[in-house]
Amino acid sequence: MVHLSAIPQDEVDDKLTQSLKKAHLQLANDDDNFATSVYGSRFAAHDLPRHEMPESEMPKEVAYRMIKDELSLDGNPMLNLASFVTTYMEEEAEKLMAESFSKNFIDYEEYPQSADIQNRCVSMIGRLFHAPQGEENGAGAVGTSCVGSSEAIMLAVLAMKKRWKNKRIAAGKPWDKPNLVMSSAVQVCWEKATRYFEVDEKLVYCTEDRYVIDPEETVNLVDENTIGICAILGTTYTGEYEDVKAVNDLLNKKGLDTPIHVDAASGGFVTPFVIPDLEWDFRLDHVVSINVSGHKYGLVYPGVGWVIWRGAEYLPKELVFNINYLGADQASFTLNFSKGASQVIGQYYQLIRLGKHGYRAIMSNLTRTANYLSDSLENMGFIIMSKKNGEGLPLVAFRLMPDEDRNYDEFALAHQLRVRGWVVPAYTMAPNTKNLKMLRVVVREDFTRARCDALIADIKLGQQLLEQMDKESIQKQQEFIHKNHTASGKATHNHPKYRVRSCATIP
Ligand SMILES: *Cc1c(COP(=O)(O)O)cnc(C)c1O
Repeated sequence: MVHLSAIPQDEVDDKLTQSLKKAHLQLANDDDNFATSVYGSRFAAHDLPRHEMPESEMPKEVAYRMIKDELSLDGNPMLNLASFVTTYMEEEAEKLMAESFSKNFIDYEEYPQSADIQNRCVSMIGRLFHAPQGEENGAGAVGTSCVGSSEAIMLAVLAMKKRWKNKRIAAGKPWDKPNLVMSSAVQVCWEKATRYFEVDEKLVYCTEDRYVIDPEETVNLVDENTIGICAILGTTYTGEYEDVKAVNDLLNKKGLDTPIHVDAASGGFVTPFVIPDLEWDFRLDHVVSINVSGHKYGLVYPGVGWVIWRGAEYLPKELVFNINYLGADQASFTLNFSKGASQVIGQYYQLIRLGKHGYRAIMSNLTRTANYLSDSLENMGFIIMSKKNGEGLPLVAFRLMPDEDRNYDEFALAHQLRVRGWVVPAYTMAPNTKNLKMLRVVVREDFTRARCDALIADIKLGQQLLEQMDKESIQKQQEFIHKNHTASGKATHNHPKYRVRSCATIP
């Protein structure tokens, strides 16, 4: 939690309020004291401005260099094995995206081609998920681009809630207690959606040896107030696919008409290529909406996501706004208004540049690399918690074999890897799993077999080093690292009201 920033008090003085009171025109007539060399300039001898916007300008070369230098202490995105989010795109894609930085996507009238490109993406992605077709008679699927799966999920939850409410009102029944059935291992955006939009959570808990929902238990939780069921195609914790078909079949067996939303944030661009026969999408009659992150296995830089509804009837029209501020009449269903067009354009580039064959080739390689890493770690004595052979996302979730005599845990090993530059997160499994500790490596497009071998070598070295250390020094080292080196431990800029001692978020 480092995003909710507080405004430090020491920088706030009342000079500002006084000057506002007697505001008068002050036009500049200072000499321009431009310094030619970045490191010879007075800026290099001072800290960069932190709290108060500086009074005067700095030369653009200096600003560029100083900020670039500051950012060099960030991790290397390529070695960040924690995240699903894309860290590599081809130069041509980068060029196209950079050329579109100045386009505001919402300005459909001014940038009709960008809007059309979004519609092409919606159609291609919808068809990948076997969405019903038939635009002419209004029977086909509908969808939109979003900032990411989080926004997509917010929109899908709103649509499910509204549709349920409309039905309840029509039936003369109360509509004040909507609930949503979902796994305890949902990504944080589901908790946001239910809390922000006041929907009760009905959780299906994971157990020590089951990290996905149990279909029976899920369907048993459904009642008249259930707006929908969330099924995850690739959980954030272990990458396992939830059995959407089993949930769908059980609903049919029980004669329930509960809608299913599939959170395919990661899996949506993997399964259609690696295991196309797996039925999880619009082939199943209860699946009313699906989200996918374009910036995960959709292979686009952050942030772009997609949400598709089976048909217009699943997206109550009260939620869709017709706007004409910018010229044309345009239907819009988004939480925010302005956003860049680059990501949508980047998505279109990837879809037509790679085609199905290209995506299949990449996803197949990732699956092979994940298998190889999984086998190697198993041989080294780790317990593997993720699925192999394309039965889950291309990631490896693993933990240490229980051993009373070992002085270190998964968190200590993660710190050792961090020293080498690798970001491999250690975290605890979802609630009700006896706080199982685990590590997770996400295999992304730019994680080659050679990089994988380098990681394995560093895991071995890290373990060797830890084995030579006693419990106390490992503990001390971990505390020191947490306090001084990790962003969450150091996050003094968080507002105290929101400060969390140790909060590992899983992107
Ligand atoms: C990443 C993820 C999300 C959130 O997606 P963003 O695109 O990062 O907003 C939601 N659900 C699952 C299963 C995810 O993996």
